Amino acid sequence: MRTVGHFIGGKEVEGKSGRFADVFEPMTGEVKAKVALATKAELRAAVENAKAAQPEWGATNPQRRARVLMKFLELVQRDYDKLAELLAREHGKTIPDAKGDIQRGLEVAEFACGIPHLMKGEYTEGAGPGIDIYSMRQPLGVVAGITPFNFPAMIPMWKFAPAIACGNAFILKPSERDPGVPMALAALMLEAGLPPGILNVVNGDKEAVDAILDDPDIKAVGFVGSSPIAQYIYERAAQTGKRAQCFGGAKNHAIIMPDADIDQTVDALIGAGYGSAGERCMAISVAVPVGKATADALMDKLIPRVEALKIGPSTDPTADYGPLVTKEALERVKNYVDIGVKEGATLAVDGRGFKMQGYENGFYMGGCLFDNVTKDMRIYKEEIFGPVLSVVRAHDYAEALSLPSDHDYGNGVAIFTRDGDAARDFAAKVNVGMVGINVPIPVPIAYYTFGGWKKSGFGDLNQHGPDSVRFYTKTKTVTSRWPSGVKEGAEFSIPLMK
Ligand code: NAD
Repeated sequence: MRTVGHFIGGKEVEGKSGRFADVFEPMTGEVKAKVALATKAELRAAVENAKAAQPEWGATNPQRRARVLMKFLELVQRDYDKLAELLAREHGKTIPDAKGDIQRGLEVAEFACGIPHLMKGEYTEGAGPGIDIYSMRQPLGVVAGITPFNFPAMIPMWKFAPAIACGNAFILKPSERDPGVPMALAALMLEAGLPPGILNVVNGDKEAVDAILDDPDIKAVGFVGSSPIAQYIYERAAQTGKRAQCFGGAKNHAIIMPDADIDQTVDALIGAGYGSAGERCMAISVAVPVGKATADALMDKLIPRVEALKIGPSTDPTADYGPLVTKEALERVKNYVDIGVKEGATLAVDGRGFKMQGYENGFYMGGCLFDNVTKDMRIYKEEIFGPVLSVVRAHDYAEALSLPSDHDYGNGVAIFTRDGDAARDFAAKVNVGMVGINVPIPVPIAYYTFGGWKKSGFGDLNQHGPDSVRFYTKTKTVTSRWPSGVKEGAEFSIPLMK
């Protein structure tokens, strides 16, 4: 059986803890690898390597640092098919979807290639008599990223590409469910010319995470995962004075106005609700039709489409979506459907009994669709993270606007309408971090920033885009005056710019 160790100091090293986690192939349900779970000492070895390598990398000019990323982009393109297949086999998503996972990560690496420009400081000549002021951005040193199972290529790249471009050394703790692609990406960064020790991958569970959080040499931590863990990471990281940005779970609503193009909206809901088996933080999990006529028309069209979803193994290029990541995930999602039925929601399509012929041990689930879901139900309040869409009927626009605004989560939201006035009002007023107008999954492009509000994001600054450079650097401001600008005599009151 394949074992996955750690990537420390520029090479794969075996795990020494004797503790391993199973890495499944969700489409067959078989265990295909064992991933080592690091101890505190193994994490510390990675930090020592990173600390030793960082000063020289931080002093390397930004153009040279960017060139390593440019080469990395080329190498990922070379290995695209191989990486996508490995990703699909460990995660369960289909190969075309796995390619998208890699592509959205690469776009952030492309953005980070602009680091010579992005890291430029500011300069003011003559801020006072003979006084010039300038600011510069400097790397933090050693920083870390802790990432979830659902985007094993994209989210690690969102973290390490800008951090490394800024001159930091990076410790990545990917999800223990699908560690293969993060390890392969680290090897490609080395092949691209990154010095050993600048990108380390430490596989593990809570023990490795806690070691990261408590390590005084790690200056910042970027986390993506579920909200309770995001909040825990945020609070514990603060105890050692780290910067922390921790992105959590989601309950993304789609508002369907009476004037929306219903066929386009149904296409959008089917893709955004059930793609990747609903295991996306930007999946639409709640549809809110406004008015009874809109709701009835929507349900008439949605039901046959959910019933017709094509579920298949990850290697079937014609499948709409593949299995869930683990048996536990499958059982948790099915349990939520049971809860919804008990709570009194109408289960319009029931996918709980779905079996994939020839893959009976895989973690498959058919699409489920609930109607008449209400605000007080657990299936509305909690994140399900599976192929389940809940329809909450709103009487009017004001009620529809209040639903995502008052919800605990605030990651993404969408409105479907032809009315520019309503769309503009919604975008301005809704209390959610990312908004789509006739766009169901409004993941901002790499040169904008990504981040949710409320329980979907703890800490300051978003991921990727200009915020990533702010997060992974500290600003120093220099005020200078040369002898020709100095007045005679000492000044005892606070200096003012005259
Ligand atoms: P998770 O919270 O279980 O795990 C995320 C990371 O935290 C993993 O690396 C894991 O090893 C670690 N971890 C898990 N339990 C821990 C504990 N008790 N102590 C310390 N570390 C722990 O999340 P997941 O199941 O891998 O991913 C799915 C979740 O991620 C969903 O809630 C989804 O919405 C969210 N997500 C959010 C975004 C976003 O940008 N907001 C993006 C993708 C996924």
